[in-house]
Amino acid sequence: MHKLQDGYTRFREDVYPARARLFSRLATDHRPGTLFIGCSDARVVPELITQSDPGELFVIRTAGNLVPAYGPGSDGVAASIEYAVAVLGVRDIVVCGHTACGAMTVLAEGHDLGAAPVIADWLRHADASRARAAAAPAGSGADRVTTLVRANVAAQLQNLATHPSVTRALAEGVIALHGWVFDIGAGTVETIDDALAVS
Ligand code: ZN
Repeated sequence: MHKLQDGYTRFREDVYPARARLFSRLATDHRPGTLFIGCSDARVVPELITQSDPGELFVIRTAGNLVPAYGPGSDGVAASIEYAVAVLGVRDIVVCGHTACGAMTVLAEGHDLGAAPVIADWLRHADASRARAAAAPAGSGADRVTTLVRANVAAQLQNLATHPSVTRALAEGVIALHGWVFDIGAGTVETIDDALAVS
C-alpha cells in the first residue's frame, strides 16, 4: 500500500501540476473516442500500450477480456457498453486479448475449476472461442493458448455486436470494431483481421 501512497504523492506534486489544464477541461468534458475492452491482467495497461491521455479511452476490463452476448437482465459490462456507444458516442471499439492470458490458459490446458465455480461460470462466455480455436487451421505455429487467445478476440467481437447499441451503430456505419492481441514480452500488437468473419 505504501507504493500506492507514494505514487499518489508524486501525482499530486509532479504529474497533476504539469497537466492541470487538461484535468480542468476534463472536469466537465467526457468525450472519449474509443471503447477499449481488455483483460483485467495487470500486465496489459490500455493507456500505456496506446499512449492515451486521461479522457481518451473508455475502458472495460474483465477476466479474459470476455464480453457476454446481450441477453435478458442487466450487468455491468452491458451497461458500460451501452453508455460508451449510445451516450458517449465512441467511434471505435477495441477488444484486446494478450499472450499468456490466465483465463485462456485455464481453458486451453483444461485446468480443473472445481474449486472455482464463479470463474468456471464466467469462462462459459468463451465457449464459442474454444469452438473457433478447435476449428483453426493447424500448422500456424501458434501454441494452444495463443490460438485460443486469437480465437477469443474474434468470438468476443461477435458477442459485442449482439448488443443493440453496437448493432445500431454498425448498421449506421458510425462505429468500427477492432481485434487486437498484445504480446507482453515483445510489446507488440497483432491485429485480428478476420475478427468479424462469420464462423
Ligand atoms: Zn488475460
